[in-house]
Amino acid sequence: MIQLPLSKLSNVGTTIFSQMTQLANENEAINLSQGFPDFPADPDLLNLVDHYIKKGFNQYAPMGGMMSLKEEIAKKIENAHEAIYHPDTEITVTAGGTQAIFTAIASLIKDGDEIIIFEPAYDCYEPTVELFGGIVKRFKMTAPDYSIDWNEVKKLVSNKTKLIILNNPNNPAGKILDESDFQELISIVKGTSIFILSDEVYENIVFDGKKHLSICKYPELKERSFLIASFGKLFHVTGWKIGYCAAPKNLTDEFRKVHQFNVFSVNTPIQLAFADYMKNEDNYLNLNVFFQKKRDLIRNGLSGTSFELLDCEGTYFQAVKYDKISNKKDIDFAHELTINHKVATVPFSSFYKEKLNENVIRLCFAKKDETLEMALENLRKI
Ligand code: GLN
Repeated sequence: MIQLPLSKLSNVGTTIFSQMTQLANENEAINLSQGFPDFPADPDLLNLVDHYIKKGFNQYAPMGGMMSLKEEIAKKIENAHEAIYHPDTEITVTAGGTQAIFTAIASLIKDGDEIIIFEPAYDCYEPTVELFGGIVKRFKMTAPDYSIDWNEVKKLVSNKTKLIILNNPNNPAGKILDESDFQELISIVKGTSIFILSDEVYENIVFDGKKHLSICKYPELKERSFLIASFGKLFHVTGWKIGYCAAPKNLTDEFRKVHQFNVFSVNTPIQLAFADYMKNEDNYLNLNVFFQKKRDLIRNGLSGTSFELLDCEGTYFQAVKYDKISNKKDIDFAHELTINHKVATVPFSSFYKEKLNENVIRLCFAKKDETLEMALENLRKI
């Protein structure tokens, strides 16, 4: 066997999401770990896909995506944030959010560039940056409120800073950025050539009447940003792997140079189906109401237990602190919960490079009410 030279990603193993799902399956546990719905998508959407496949729309889509879908995406963004992206030159349909993130980083980052991320951070950011020789600087957000001290963030900025990666709403902390966060960010990047990658895949899942503020709402930020979103989250079809990147033309041009050699183009019939389905805004505008009921089911079910509920302003993840129950590390506690109590979760330490343990785990509530009730029954016994 030929020996591999030093791995390009020597510290990277299988993602925690796959690990916990596998552990859940092996132990026949209720899987509240990996973020995906266990309920079906709307039959109307499934019928549309069926229609386009049977009508013969089964060949390559244009590299940047089907025009009809890109037009609907542009409309959705304009209606929500009053920001204009040109469907032809500024929106690219991707094979999911993760591919869009990879491609944006690949199109921008060179050896020695510095990138600022906020921890807890979604697991693909750092390895992707490393693959292209970038150096990651981290600001740690911590329990219980996961707020950002922008004065500390400023200290991470240097003349090598190339990119700031935001995840808003934040997975796993469920935190959203507010107006003052954006003003601070503007003051940091104004007059610099720092770019922004804004991962907003949970944009439509924000609770308690709060509003999701997108990067594209702020012209000083929009002009330097890749805005990334996901249809998997929007329409309960994570396995279809379709998302998009909206960015000004000069950024989109660079993005597409990589995209064409990475995936070339994304499957045609589903793009056409989404384009039709998106024409009815009701198909996604009530997502927050739908998920807030599930969030509240979990929160009400756990109130009065020894689990401490942290705030959940957005996403379909509820963070809970368990230090009144156990002083085990979160990864060990998550294993114990899966094996002994048959509920799988994700430990927060996996979202920190240095595995910061604050005794917090993440529960995914994108599940049928009956799944959530069963999990609650087990968790209430602890
Ligand atoms: N986004 C999903 C989560 O946070 C997982 C996606 C994946 O497994 N890569 O759980």
